[in-house]
Amino acid sequence: MAGLALSRPTTSGSITMAQEQETIIVTSRTVACDGGGGALGHPKTFYTIGEAGSVVCGYCGQRFELDPDAPTDHGH
Ligand SMILES: [Zn+2]
Repeated sequence: MAGLALSRPTTSGSITMAQEQETIIVTSRTVACDGGGGALGHPKTFYTIGEAGSVVCGYCGQRFELDPDAPTDHGH
């Protein structure tokens, strides 16, 4: 088997009081979330960021925020 990689979660002794959810900044109003795969994964789901400028995944709670500097037009 090639590519065998043993990855372990890095716990540096810091106290985590709640699930850490990093906000992902995206440049497109359409985002897809699959929970990052692994044990916390879920079926790939697409979300569209509306006027609020952000959306939260209903499966895993991942927050996506539209980059305010993102171009509003599609392509060029
Ligand atoms: Zn998700």
